[in-house]
Amino acid sequence: MEFSGYNLRIGIIGGGQLGKMMTQEAKKMGFYVTILDPTPNSPASQLADEQLVGGFHDRNKIKELVTRSDVTTYDIEDIDVGALKELVEAGHLIHPSPQILEIIQDKWKQKEVLARSGIPIARYRKVEGSALAAAIEEFGFPVVQKACRGGYDGRGVFVIRTRDDIGRALKAESFLEEFVEIEKELAVMVARSAAGEIKCHPVVEMVFDEAANICDMVVAPVLVEQKIQDESRQIAVAVVESLGGAGIFGIEMFLDEAGNVLVNEIAPRPHNSGHYTIEACVTSQFEQHIRAIMGLPLGSTELLTPAVMINILGGEGYEGPAMFRGIRETLQIPGAALHLYGKRITRPFRKMGHVTVVDKEVENALEKAQRIKTLLRVVSEEA
Ligand code: ADP
Repeated sequence: MEFSGYNLRIGIIGGGQLGKMMTQEAKKMGFYVTILDPTPNSPASQLADEQLVGGFHDRNKIKELVTRSDVTTYDIEDIDVGALKELVEAGHLIHPSPQILEIIQDKWKQKEVLARSGIPIARYRKVEGSALAAAIEEFGFPVVQKACRGGYDGRGVFVIRTRDDIGRALKAESFLEEFVEIEKELAVMVARSAAGEIKCHPVVEMVFDEAANICDMVVAPVLVEQKIQDESRQIAVAVVESLGGAGIFGIEMFLDEAGNVLVNEIAPRPHNSGHYTIEACVTSQFEQHIRAIMGLPLGSTELLTPAVMINILGGEGYEGPAMFRGIRETLQIPGAALHLYGKRITRPFRKMGHVTVVDKEVENALEKAQRIKTLLRVVSEEA
């Protein structure tokens, strides 16, 4: 498979904002892009060459997408992995490999792989059947319960603070994890190309909205000493080396109050914490992903300027056709770049877009980003 311009086709399972921004880069480089998504006119399909309308567990549609593409990738994790495996066995290229996706779909399996590779992680233990109370004794309070499957944006995570919380614990198959006294949440994007080359973007801080347990701000570079940044990057690279496979991976980590760096989880795709790379790095996470899956040389990950990214989340209490307030005021701020994903309907905390602010001083970027947070609102037309 040699890329000579316009000759190769990329299939993307999932047409959300990550698929959209991947498509943007793929189109920039001249690839033909097909999206598979159940929602017609998905964000990615607004830029792609075509969209197949179908679900992520629809084996026929997955097969149709993969067989008409030279390389297939994905922007979500909840996909029929069995179908992908069969297609790889039949000789098709899917990156990252379905084996990696299968591990990542199950947080318990993910922990086991990280532990076996000697990656630093928080202590954890599987909850067998109804033995939750007994397992908690081992950790004491507070302790974190995580569903093995199906959780995202904090939905499969429950902090058990007292005995009274046990009755409200998650009912799904789960494991317990030591409660980490978190100083900062860090993330690093690491790409591994189909040829085995590895490159790592800068370390960033993810700041969470307490109420929604969703990442609402990313600060690049993270404001911690260089030694911790170097260590985080080394660990993130070790994670990707232990997984193998091609593509870009988001490695989420905790810096605890004692200064330890622990890996929390892996995303086998571009990640919210890497959106800042579009404006702030020589090569964006999306371009890097396309290069990686197409077996092309990886680009420079150099940070050209500090940046702060904020998510534009659907306003609480609004559901319906989306309207954005404060766009003009936002764009008046020097260094602010607006990204709207093309989702017509807003819901509370739905990721509707993001703004990246670049500035020579990270403190100034932070101050501008805070200002934009008070300016930009997503409401619905009915309001
Ligand atoms: P999701 O896959 O839903 O994003 P995460 O495992 O990333 O779930 O957890 C969501 C958030 O919960 C984290 O960003 C962190 O703030 C908190 N959290 C997760 N694990 C722990 C832990 N072991 N100790 C303390 N807080 C945690």
